[in-house]
Amino acid sequence: MVWRIFTLLLCQVLVGSLASFLAPAEQVWTQALAAALVGGYIWFLLDVLRGTRLLRWLRAGGADDIALGNGLWGEVYDRVRRTLRAKDRLADESNGRLSDFLAALQASPNGVVLLDADGRIEWFNETACVHFGFDAKRDMLQHFGNLVRDPSFAAYYNARNFYDDVTMPGRHSTMTKPVQLSVHIHPYGEGRSLLLSRDITAVEQAEAMRRDFVANVSHEIRTPLTVLAGFVETLQALPLNEQERHRYLGLMAQQASRMQTLVSDLLTLSRLEGSPLPSALDWVPVDALMEQCAQEAYELSSILNQQQHDLQFVGLPGVDIAGSSVELYSAISNLIGNAIRYTPAEKRIEIRWVLREDGAAVLSVKDHGQGIAPEHLPRLTERFYRVDRSRSRDTGGTGLGLAIVKHVAQRHGAELSIESVPGTGSTFSITFPASRVHHLPVAQAIAA
Ligand code: ADP
Repeated sequence: MVWRIFTLLLCQVLVGSLASFLAPAEQVWTQALAAALVGGYIWFLLDVLRGTRLLRWLRAGGADDIALGNGLWGEVYDRVRRTLRAKDRLADESNGRLSDFLAALQASPNGVVLLDADGRIEWFNETACVHFGFDAKRDMLQHFGNLVRDPSFAAYYNARNFYDDVTMPGRHSTMTKPVQLSVHIHPYGEGRSLLLSRDITAVEQAEAMRRDFVANVSHEIRTPLTVLAGFVETLQALPLNEQERHRYLGLMAQQASRMQTLVSDLLTLSRLEGSPLPSALDWVPVDALMEQCAQEAYELSSILNQQQHDLQFVGLPGVDIAGSSVELYSAISNLIGNAIRYTPAEKRIEIRWVLREDGAAVLSVKDHGQGIAPEHLPRLTERFYRVDRSRSRDTGGTGLGLAIVKHVAQRHGAELSIESVPGTGSTFSITFPASRVHHLPVAQAIAA
């Protein structure tokens, strides 16, 4: 204010003095007074001009800086500019925080939808688009209930009891490829809600598999147990002669052995699932494995048939496979056992190791048995899946053999492949990658 009065007076004094210099002596005072008034007027005009500049600057949003100098307008300008800059900074900061927050929600593996008090969509992330088939432009501000019309969700939404979640099929769910979503609404603020969706297809499938597995195991154990209990009752109730007793005890032993095999296969599977991966530094000689398997194969073949199979073994001298000898033996003997069990006596079964040019080693078990129809091939390695249930049982099968083989192969970085022609025979092959195969130079291998 002092500056303002000072500049006004200065302006008047300067113009007044100039006028008094130029005026004739008798009119000095009157002319000086008039000039001082004109000086005040000029000052006022300049002041209005500065004020107008400030107003224009404000109207333009105060984006660019202007020079207004000192004085009232200068100070007003300075303070307004600083306040505006501080507000801009604050707005930038909160915009940045909002974008970070939305980016975090966008990155969420779960679907996130923000609904207003009327249930209209305010925002949703990419995952919600996939879960519910939303379109980012078309569906914004639409009523969620109008877009998602699944009956179980509609009942959940209308009941307004959001304590729990609801399970519903996803937008792209089909019979062959089901997608299950868990949807949970969390109310917040004044009537608003946060809707979270989670893809639980894998969890549901795992749960269904677990249920099936328990049901299958119970069924597999109950059958021989029922038979055993029946025989025990017969032995207790009926006066049997020695020959009959002998026959019944033999049948009981058969059932007990079936249960033993089943429990042993179950334990093998659970060990495979629960133990660390086999070491890549323990080397198992292929020929030693083959020797062990051959011995067992001849025994099994003669137990199952009076006439043995024509078994042919081709090993790989000097070749080692990195892994667990127990697991490898279990997988190979399962394949050979199957070939023997599903191939008529006297027919040829070839068990052959081949070293490929790329360094991979392939074990193939080829039989000339009944073969398998193509529709069964993709499911053969599922637990308890059998093409011919009674044949599997009659020959002591548990339905777990190929599941064990697949597990062992996977744990050794190997791949199981199955080729089969019904009526002609099947070939089961395990391909071990070069990184798990070690072989001596040919000359050394022959000498060994
Ligand atoms: P199982 O104990 O019943 O043999 P596996 O898991 O070893 O169980 O095999 C699953 C099913 O695959 C068998 O029940 C059988 O129907 C079929 N299978 C396996 N190997 C052969 C084979 N070499 N020839 C024909 N069918 C086979």
